Amino acid sequence: MTNQKQPQTPTPPTDVFGRALRDLRISVTDRCNFRCVYCMPKEIFGRGYRFLPQEEVLTFEEITRLVNIFAGLGTRKIRLTGGEPLMRRQVEGLVEMLAAVPGIDDLAMTTNGSFPVERIQMLKDAGLQRMTVSLDSLDDEIFMAMNDMKVPVSRVLNWIETAQTKGFNPVKVNMVVKRGLNEDSILPMARKFNTPGTILRFIEFMDVGSSNGWRMDEVVPAKEIIQLIHREMPLEEIPPNYPGEVATRFRYKDTVNEIGVIASVTKPFCRGCTRIRLSANGSLYTCLFAVQGHDLKTPLRDGASDAEIIEIITNLWQNRTDQYSDLRSEETDDLPKVEMSFIGG
Ligand code: SAM
Repeated sequence: MTNQKQPQTPTPPTDVFGRALRDLRISVTDRCNFRCVYCMPKEIFGRGYRFLPQEEVLTFEEITRLVNIFAGLGTRKIRLTGGEPLMRRQVEGLVEMLAAVPGIDDLAMTTNGSFPVERIQMLKDAGLQRMTVSLDSLDDEIFMAMNDMKVPVSRVLNWIETAQTKGFNPVKVNMVVKRGLNEDSILPMARKFNTPGTILRFIEFMDVGSSNGWRMDEVVPAKEIIQLIHREMPLEEIPPNYPGEVATRFRYKDTVNEIGVIASVTKPFCRGCTRIRLSANGSLYTCLFAVQGHDLKTPLRDGASDAEIIEIITNLWQNRTDQYSDLRSEETDDLPKVEMSFIGG
């Protein structure tokens, strides 16, 4: 028997409620080619909107340095998002750099799937492991009304199918459900994606940011979505893959096919939240509904050592008390929250 030392898995810092820091979501750009009415409505994100100037956006090297630091603190999961991550030039290069970071064993991306499908192979070759694609309807009229950029359903379906053939299996499909807009698309989507190659996830319309005019009566509760599908295609709840998984999972009975619901409004999951978010300009946010971020770009560019950055991150996390969704109430309605396109969805 050899007496070799096993590499130590670092113990991640925990917050005030004992939640460990495990995943990092990175917004690689605040820009998007869609103007989804629930996320980046044209009235606010129109021609005059001032996106971040390029010099304020973290470089690939800066992001990679931070990911190395997070990995050293025990973070295992990275999700690239935005904005639209594929709007960031050569984002495949960033994927390649992050895939090489020791300790990162789950590298995922959320995209709207509207770009030339040739990029899928490039992402795969660069080391991307999982892909989530957003699609809110199979009906062109509804989908175009929601993305507000006349992008047809066929383009996104082609992306999903190509991703499957390139080895992203399963592809997760995110559908935000907004009352009065796309509830009629729930069943067609559930039928279409009742396959082993996809996991459809219904997301309750959330009060993120301050520009989407959120109202409680526009939320279709996850329970209602499940009941609707169950009547036609019987479902059974299945256990989470890991503690703190955001989606509640269901299986179409007698199959291996699965769906999920993200009930962030009607059944908040703050208690299991292990996520931190890095905005495109290098601020850390300890909650999707945060009002304020913590600037990391300045110390990063002012020559802070790894030890100093570790201290900033650890202090921030150890003092974390966020539980916005659990406390959601009329008082929280008017808080000036940060936009999801900026902080990373
Ligand atoms: N551009 C990429 C995309 O479309 O998937 C990534 C960024 S987007 C902000 C990430 C996810 O957040 C998408 O699935 C989107 O539908 C979802 N999302 C945006 N605004 C939302 C809201 N108000 N409520 C619920 N989900 C929302």
